[in-house]
Amino acid sequence: MRAIVENLYAQQQMLLQPKPASKEQTACIQQLREKIPVQILGHFDRLIAQGRRGVALVRRGICGECHLRISSGTVASLVRPKDVYVCDNCGRYLLLAPDETITPAESAAPVTPPARKTRKKPVAAAG
Ligand SMILES: [Zn+2]
Repeated sequence: MRAIVENLYAQQQMLLQPKPASKEQTACIQQLREKIPVQILGHFDRLIAQGRRGVALVRRGICGECHLRISSGTVASLVRPKDVYVCDNCGRYLLLAPDETITPAESAAPVTPPARKTRKKPVAAAG
């Protein structure tokens, strides 16, 4: 499944470059599209038509497009995807960044919990 999103990403890189795609690239894009299911292409094409990216790279559990945190369950699934995942917030297809090395064990391990801002008030004696 990862291959589908990787194909989309390769296509995106050629579509969003400053100059129009060369003949070779157009042929390459066509080949990539043949490997991608129609519904997935439809959603991707809509985003591209709006001048947006269709695929967001995920780094450190953060969506590369909207910069919001992705659920750790989804990030863990991206390591060995059985499905295609989209960002809950911006709707882009999610692809784990190539330089991102999360192992399922690592992502499941508890990371240092964030400091709590809300301080518990001392329990006042009822009266
Ligand atoms: Zn997003």
